[in-house]
Amino acid sequence: MLVEHGGEDAGREAAMSEAPPYAAFLERTWQALQPSLHEANCLGCEYLEAARLELRLALEDLAADARTDALHRSMVAVDSAAERHPCLSCDPCRPSLLHAELLREQARRSTCEAACDT
Ligand SMILES: [Zn+2]
Ligand SMILES: [Zn+2]
Repeated sequence: MLVEHGGEDAGREAAMSEAPPYAAFLERTWQALQPSLHEANCLGCEYLEAARLELRLALEDLAADARTDALHRSMVAVDSAAERHPCLSCDPCRPSLLHAELLREQARRSTCEAACDT
């Protein structure tokens, strides 16, 4: 792996955002999922479980820092005892939307990684 990037580029990138975009995306998705943790219909929804699992796995793939660590801990902390059930098709079901978005982003990333492999 190359570590010698152009000094100015690296500096500009660091200034633009404190978190890597993917970590920030995972954080946003997790925050967007929060209200569903308090909705009885969505709490045991299969998509909520699926989204949480995807988020955790994605986070575990990222290099750990204080931020991803705290995020991961907050996900593990809400391991609900709610009974799982198929999606009740709330209109719309937030977990199912977020889960779909998560999968889209992961597909996009894996395509890019293959194409931009260096
Ligand atoms: Zn729902
Ligand atoms: Zn649902």
